[in-house]
Amino acid sequence: MASAPPLETSTLVGFPPPPPYEETMGTVPLYTPGPMYYPPNDVKGAQPPYPQQAYGEMYPPPPGAQPVTTPVVSVQTVYVQPGALFRDIPVQVHCPECTQNVTSQLDFTSGTLTWLSCAGLAIFGCFYGCCLIPFCVDSLKDVTHRCPNCRRTLGVYTRI
Ligand SMILES: [Zn+2]
Repeated sequence: MASAPPLETSTLVGFPPPPPYEETMGTVPLYTPGPMYYPPNDVKGAQPPYPQQAYGEMYPPPPGAQPVTTPVVSVQTVYVQPGALFRDIPVQVHCPECTQNVTSQLDFTSGTLTWLSCAGLAIFGCFYGCCLIPFCVDSLKDVTHRCPNCRRTLGVYTRI
């Protein structure tokens, strides 16, 4: 069985052998320990390690520069009244008439769903007043949101 040649004879043919280690690293000085460093204040508690400094002292503004001030962010409340917010429950809205935030009052009026329910009951044989029941059911009526102060119509919610 063939074995690997010894290391001394394993240089590549055509390449010069590398320089020895001493020739390459000879001019690099080795580490020589110097004198030990002792802090001047060896007494504990004599001086705080990190003295408190104000921010302005650490980073003084350049000459001629304006002092940096934090811009004041003003929060402005915007009242949005999309029609989709009006359902069959009172909502908090801003009345443009009396310029107040009010809770809307609900007015239930007969709408399309009310009449369709009435017609459906009549078709299925509910005569003699029974077909008028949808006109008494608020959940089948359209809803008009009004201002409680000036009675202005603020929004209308239609079932269909
Ligand atoms: Zn109003």
